[in-house]
Amino acid sequence: MTIEQRTVIPLSDIDAIEFECTHCHAIYSIPLAEIKEDVRLACINCPQQFANPQHTDSSKMTDAQVLASLILRLRDAQQRPYKATIRLAISDSKKSSGAAASRDSGDGT
Ligand SMILES: [Zn+2]
Repeated sequence: MTIEQRTVIPLSDIDAIEFECTHCHAIYSIPLAEIKEDVRLACINCPQQFANPQHTDSSKMTDAQVLASLILRLRDAQQRPYKATIRLAISDSKKSSGAAASRDSGDGT
């Protein structure tokens, strides 16, 4: 028998975005409420840019635009009235593969 455990996160429970620099491993988070249009997508500790501000195809959004858009839309989505409870789901297998996710899960097991 296979038992699969899922972790779900209601949209309203997401209160910050965490960044960990792949170069120097500095970790910091920005509360969604404090994020503005010009959200900083670079390390606070080294020159590393987190997302490419250029795209080879000028008709497409850059990596930086996609990430900034996701963050801003997430914050916007939290403030809209829906007739459903919307949750983001994380499968247990994916949760255990990420050190940050397993550290922060707090699932009490
Ligand atoms: Zn860094």
